[in-house]
Amino acid sequence: MAEIIDGKALSKSIRAEVKEQVETLVQETGKTPHLVVVLVGEDPASQSYVKAKQRACERAGIKSTLLRKDDTIKEEELVQLVEELNQDEAVHGILVQLPLPDHIDANRVIDTIEQNKDVDGFHPLNIAALQIGTPGILPATPKGILTMLESVGIDLQGKKALIVGRSNIVGKPVLQLLLRKHATVTIAHSRTKDLKKECLEADVLIAAVGRANMITGDMIKPGAVVIDVGVNRVDGKLVGDVDFEAAKDVASHITPVPGGVGPMTIASLLQNTIECFETLVK
Ligand code: NDP
Repeated sequence: MAEIIDGKALSKSIRAEVKEQVETLVQETGKTPHLVVVLVGEDPASQSYVKAKQRACERAGIKSTLLRKDDTIKEEELVQLVEELNQDEAVHGILVQLPLPDHIDANRVIDTIEQNKDVDGFHPLNIAALQIGTPGILPATPKGILTMLESVGIDLQGKKALIVGRSNIVGKPVLQLLLRKHATVTIAHSRTKDLKKECLEADVLIAAVGRANMITGDMIKPGAVVIDVGVNRVDGKLVGDVDFEAAKDVASHITPVPGGVGPMTIASLLQNTIECFETLVK
């Protein structure tokens, strides 16, 4: 039976640390870290993510402001709003919740965010820093995944890691972070020929696809570490990309859904907000 990597508990302890850091920073600077979240439209999943992020900020003593915009907002208006937030000295972090409506070029909006206020770590300069290995804001979900692996003492050096999914927000940045830790990394995607074969070779398997239970128990190498990023709703219940019940009997470590990567994404976002604040204010 695998050791469960408890993202909820780890996130709680990180959020408590952040709260202490915020108290110290407020004392030192007389200023309160302030995150502005921009939400365009009424997408229910986005609304619930934003709500969770705001609640976590409030509990950690970080001021958070939600700017809600109608999904008819023009790209130009959104870009202008971000530019205003860039200029505002009382704003230390800017998060534009994705996805944006089809008529808006999300890349242009993200490119507009000032690099030092980019709490999501999606700005091209932060992505370049990640690639090169220079200081920058790390994307929240990949950062949370690395923190989880470190929390249970997984030594990645020389390990074979497989990431299933090549998105800009999860798969590709996770690749960079695992490389930094000297893993030998493969990325699989929808055109991969024999996914099961690739999975069975992986000492560390990271699933970030968005297809419920697609990684079955017989695809996991005995003793592998399994990180399930997927969030899927099946009959009103949240499930991951990994068939947890089967996988837990084969893996050495596994993250649950819910209570795994999700809470860690939020914890990392708070850490990033503090990092931005320190860069801008201290
Ligand atoms: P994307 O939809 O951007 O990417 C999905 C990836 O999965 C693509 O690279 C796609 O390949 C690949 N894929 C699709 N079908 C298959 C298949 N049959 N076999 C192998 N690969 C396949 O998703 P995201 O990275 O944004 O998110 C992935 C999942 O993680 C979602 O469930 C999302 O909700 C969740 N998520 C969870 C977060 C958290 O905090 N817990 C944060 C972010 C995401 P191709 O490129 O070829 O199309």
